[in-house]
Order: sequence, then C-alpha cells, then structure tokens
Amino acid sequence: MTTYLDNAATTAVCSEAATAAFNIMNNCYGNPSSTHTLGRASKAILDDSRKSIASVFGCTPAEIFFTSCGTESDNWAILGALHVNRRVGKHIISSTVEHDAVRKTLDKLEADGYEITRLDPEADGSVAVSSVAAALRDNTALVTLMAINNETGGVTDIRAIAKAIKQAGSSALLHCDAVQAFLKLPLKTKTLDADLISISGHKIHAPKGIGALYVKKGINLPPFIIGGGQENGRRAGTESLPLIAAFATAVTTISPTLNKDLAHMASLKKLCVERLSADIENIYFVDSAAVHILSIALPRYKSEVIMNFLEAKEIYVSKSSACKKGGRSHVLEAIGMSSEQIDGAIRIGFSRYSTTADVHALCDGILEASQKLFKVL
Ligand code: PLP
Repeated sequence: MTTYLDNAATTAVCSEAATAAFNIMNNCYGNPSSTHTLGRASKAILDDSRKSIASVFGCTPAEIFFTSCGTESDNWAILGALHVNRRVGKHIISSTVEHDAVRKTLDKLEADGYEITRLDPEADGSVAVSSVAAALRDNTALVTLMAINNETGGVTDIRAIAKAIKQAGSSALLHCDAVQAFLKLPLKTKTLDADLISISGHKIHAPKGIGALYVKKGINLPPFIIGGGQENGRRAGTESLPLIAAFATAVTTISPTLNKDLAHMASLKKLCVERLSADIENIYFVDSAAVHILSIALPRYKSEVIMNFLEAKEIYVSKSSACKKGGRSHVLEAIGMSSEQIDGAIRIGFSRYSTTADVHALCDGILEASQKLFKVL
C-alpha cells in the first residue's frame, strides 16, 4: 500500500477535478475566444470557473487571472509590479527563504541593477513584520514574501506586513506567494490584503500546469506573456479549459470542509511529532504553524538513506523542496540548522486525504530505519 506524505511537493488530483477535466476534454473542446456556439459554451465554463475561485478567495472574478503555474504567477507578479512602480525606485524587499520562483527572479533582477534586501527568517522560516518595516525605504517598489514556507511550514503575517507598508506611507506593492497557503489557511484576499497573490492548482488536488494570480482592482499589471487578448488582454495564450475547470472544481470541492480538514491535518502533524519524539533519540523538529508541513531532522543519518529505506516500503516523503532535486536547502541553512541536521532533514507533507495509518506507517518506517541503518557518524 502506498503511503504518500509528500503533499507539499504536490497532491493527488481529487476525483471531482479529474472528472471535470475529463468531461471538458471529451465534450467541450471549443476555443473560449471563438464566437460560435461551441466557443460560447467554453467561455461560459471559463467564466464560471473564475467566479467559483473568486468567490472562495473573496475577490471579484475580474481580479483572477489564470496562468500555467505558481512559478509563472510569481514571475509575472514581480516583474509586473516593478513596471507599475518603476517611478518609485529599484529597491525590493524579500527574504532568504523564498521559493526559487521568487528567489531566482530576484537574482536576475539584481544582476540587472535592482537592489534587493533579503531578510533573514525566524527559526520557523517565517519573516517578522518588524524586519520588513525596518527595511522599507523611499525607493522600495516591491515587497515579495511567501505566506507559508514550503520547507518549514513557517507562517508569515502578510496582513500585518500590508498594514506596516501602509503605516509607513510607502508606495511599495505587496506580492504574496500563497502557493502553499491557499486552502491551507482560512485566508481570503481581503484578509491577506496583498496587492498580488500567487496560487497554484497542484497543491490543492487540482492537476499540475494551472495556477492563478490575484491582481487587486486598480493595479494595471502589464502582461508577462504577450500575444492574443485572452484573460482580459493581460495573459495571452488559449486558456487550458480542462485544467481551469479542474482547478475550480478542486477549490469548490475542498473549500466547504476546510476548517475540518485543517483540524484533521493538525492532528496528524501532532501525532507524528508525538510518535517520532517518543521513538527516536535526538530528533529535531521545526516548530511551525502550518498544519500540512512538518520538517524534521535525524542528526547522524543521511536523508537520502532514510528516504530510500522508506521508498522500498512505498512510503514517500522528501528531503526539502522537490524543486531542489535533492540539492542542499537554502531554507534550512537560513533558519540556522546545523549541517549535520540538514544532512538528515526530511519534509513530511499532509493532505485532507492523509490518514492516521499513513502516519503510523511512516513513523514505523523511520523507527525501523534508525534501528537497522548504519549511522553516518
Ligand atoms: N511557490 C511555492 C511556495 C511553492 O511551494 C511552489 C511549488 O512547490 C511554487 C511557488 C511553484 O509552483 P508551481 O509548481 O505551480 O510552479
């Protein structure tokens, strides 16, 4: 039996979303931009999907733009915001623990002459509001921070950061990478209060290859992908209707039970911590608020060795971010974990479909691995 506990990397597509995509691929192949009946039928599904996501996210449909993934949303938000605020200046505030979709975009901007302040995180990978407030300058054009860190589960108070930007009288736009936070916190666009918010389908039981960017009304973000007039002229390319409808279906399927699901994931995380701390000597946990991410370290063991042992039992977790492809984690270094801890780090990711049996299978597997495998030191 497969035990999948790598839900921060990606989630299984829920059957409702898969059925929606299948039905559209079979029955609704018109181009939403075509003016004939088939095109209009597709356009109606596109509009309904946008409305469903907007209603759950607490914004207007006109503020939701579909993209190909969270990475595209992040890239577009950052580059677009800098264009909108080009007269404000070339200073950007971010952190040392952002996802590569943000981090590498900022590295490129720095090479192009922008000045980046990369804030150090707290011990859980979140960013303190006070450090953002202290870094604001007259020429700060953009603050870009994630709501939940994808490796540690640290939760940053984006709303308080929005307030601090306003209180400072700053013109900086606020972009939030909410790829890990969307439907993992009971958040709405209005309560988050960021100007731009990135989300992605595959973290919430929709297929891969679909994301969205929330753009607050009044912000005239220029297109990042240039071509036809789709997405109100802001994001060219024929819309992927099956993926968009599946995204909306996943959102409407999982949102009604969100609070119950979050409580369920929190109880699994607690159980996992209780069992592992009872079973394994010297285990280290990152104490973070997100209910779906648990970062642990088994000092003196190599993560790869533990993961291979677990994989042989069809138990799937990850070392850090999947995008790192096994490389060393900049996030775990930034939160001050020792190199010995980083070498033995494992990220566990829960979903609404995870069970206590999954947690017990994982904890049994880790205990067995710790008893059977040779210690590195
Ligand atoms: N931002 C964060 C915090 C993520 O965790 C991820 C994916 O792991 C992304 C952005 C990129 O999203 P996508 O895989 O949809 O491009």
